Amino acid sequence: MAITAASAQAEQHCGRSAQALLRRPLKELFPAKTIAQITAVPPSDTPSVVYLNDPAGWPAGDYQVVIYPLKDEFVLEVELRRKWSHVGDYASRLDGFTRELEAETTTSGLLQRLCDGLTEHLGYDRAITIQFDNLEHSVVTHESRKEGMPSMLDMRFVEEDIPEATRCRQLAETVLNFTDDNTPLHPVVGDVSDPAAEIIHLHVASRQPFVNSLRFLRDTGLSTLGYLSILIDGKLWGSCYMHSIEPLYLDYQMQSFLRVVGRLVQHKIAYHLYHSNLRNKQKAHAVRDNLHKEIIRAENLTEGLTAGPTTILDLIPEAKGAAVCSDDEMTILGETPTQEEINAVVGWVKGVIGEDKKWYTDQLATHFPPAQAYIKKAAGMVFLPLDHDANQWIVWFKPETVRTIVFGSTAPADNPRDRRYSERAVTTQRWSLPWREEEILAIRALRVFLQKVVLQRYSTTQRQNTLLREALDDLELFSYTIGHDLRAPLRGIASYADILQEDYNHLLDQEGQAFLNKIQQNAERMRIFMDDLLALNRIDRNKMVFNSLCVEQLVRRVLADLSSAKYSAATQCDIAQPLPDICGDCNYMIIVFTNLLSNAFKYSARAKEPRVEVSFTGEYRRGFPVFCVADNGIGIPQDQQARVFDLFTRSTNSEGYEGTGIGLALVQRIIRFHEGDIWLESEEGKGSRFYFYSGVRVGVHTGGR
Ligand code: ADP
Repeated sequence: MAITAASAQAEQHCGRSAQALLRRPLKELFPAKTIAQITAVPPSDTPSVVYLNDPAGWPAGDYQVVIYPLKDEFVLEVELRRKWSHVGDYASRLDGFTRELEAETTTSGLLQRLCDGLTEHLGYDRAITIQFDNLEHSVVTHESRKEGMPSMLDMRFVEEDIPEATRCRQLAETVLNFTDDNTPLHPVVGDVSDPAAEIIHLHVASRQPFVNSLRFLRDTGLSTLGYLSILIDGKLWGSCYMHSIEPLYLDYQMQSFLRVVGRLVQHKIAYHLYHSNLRNKQKAHAVRDNLHKEIIRAENLTEGLTAGPTTILDLIPEAKGAAVCSDDEMTILGETPTQEEINAVVGWVKGVIGEDKKWYTDQLATHFPPAQAYIKKAAGMVFLPLDHDANQWIVWFKPETVRTIVFGSTAPADNPRDRRYSERAVTTQRWSLPWREEEILAIRALRVFLQKVVLQRYSTTQRQNTLLREALDDLELFSYTIGHDLRAPLRGIASYADILQEDYNHLLDQEGQAFLNKIQQNAERMRIFMDDLLALNRIDRNKMVFNSLCVEQLVRRVLADLSSAKYSAATQCDIAQPLPDICGDCNYMIIVFTNLLSNAFKYSARAKEPRVEVSFTGEYRRGFPVFCVADNGIGIPQDQQARVFDLFTRSTNSEGYEGTGIGLALVQRIIRFHEGDIWLESEEGKGSRFYFYSGVRVGVHTGGR
């Protein structure tokens, strides 16, 4: 066994030049006992350490040989053995330190303990932990430092500061320590096999710092830089960096110490992260589930998203305001710009980004300068389009967050990769907190859920429509039966009763004649009832034709028709001027006035001075004039007023007045088909006032519902 390659600087370490070592058999260099130790090492990934207890021909000192056994070769690294600077040996320190780390119950506590322990046990002047974000920028999260060392806490590094090559190296070699005085550089002379070259590159010679790291040492006045990689799920989650003003050398044992500590820290962080992620996810799921339930329960989208105990603001806690728009109606939550401002910015997003594209920014005013006016409320925004035909969308806003960020480096404009390590404070204005990945995912998931709900509702509506159509078909058949099949026998009853009266009346005694009379009256009542019912069933929204109608003409026409009715003659009927025109279907509006006026005449006929009046109230609802048909008749008891529009419902005080309880149901249905409303005011014994309006416009026919 002979030496095939040696460190170029071997002489500095052990007093023997590389040239003098090359091709020398081991037995000339080490005593037999040491050689036995070296050759006894089985090939494995783990290097072994053999102490050189002052062998002959070596200068005095604490040397040790770190052996990397390969198949046919050994890579031997001769290194100085460093004594701990404090009392206590490797094992007891490691035991004490790992115990302290074990006791920490949070990631933050653990990282702080790590920094404290590394300065204490290894003698570094400062230890910091950094954490990478998903863009590989990093921030200093914890620190421990000796007096006089400047703080680096909260300092940020951009991706170029710890470039990809360095990050990859940190993945492969998780513990490293080097100084800038070139002493630990180990260029090798001689020939070695590829596997040995790999070991030398990765382990022995890797103590040669990268150019970037050397620059960091020089720029910051340090001479030692060490690190401990924190890998989670095979990714570089963060690092612990150790700094020292004086050259600080870690021997193999100290590096092992670091490795063990590193592994423990990784396991503990992975454990904490898993649990905190789980907790966060559970919290987020609970919010999402509640919101979903509310959306399903709600009558419409806006109500589901904004009205319940959980709203879209709870979905994104960092957002302080949100707005939902559906069918041109906007509902806002929390701190937001005004509705006009929101409409303007949404209009801009739709125009520039696209109607159907989700878009977000943490610097809205940079893209859309008018947003500067409301930057305190909306420096950041997410736009989530839902249905552009219905102008349906949601926006969330984050307020401006003014922060001073200290970057740990600067780069010359011409070459961003050429880093200079000096502090540079930048105050961020016009920015909101960034939109985090989880937030964007939550927003995306909401859209998927809403689409699902809409589809489900659509199929439910379709099912209900089918059922409704079937029910309507049944109803038509029913109406037909009433109109034709029942009408014929009824006509038969009435006709035979008439014949009986005309031809056989003289044969009946008084009681018989009274019975016959009752038969005729009941047949007539039944005919009216059937006519009313048929009229109700015949209302067809699709056949309505909306025109501008002169209310006065309409009322006069109805009054002329009603003048033959027995109770209208004695009643004073006024038409208060002026009456504005309305829009509606002429025939159906005649039915409305006919029913309201005939009721007014009927139920006021027994008043002392019966009076009926048709007027315009002077009031508008949704822009449509409200009309009133009033009388001074029997009125309707308070507790029954709401129900008189129900089919077949009559008030208790109307007994003794003819009626079927169908008229007002018919009127209400017609008014609803005119997108209007009808209501009443009444006092028993004093009279009633029926108010209504038609809510359609000329030329607008929205089709059947
Ligand atoms: P009816 O054929 O019984 O008049 P309607 O549907 O037209 O049926 O009216 C329902 C009920 O409302 C009536 O039975 C009556 O009790 C009450 N009603 C309607 N109009 C008036 C009115 N002008 N004055 C008092 N009660 C009225």
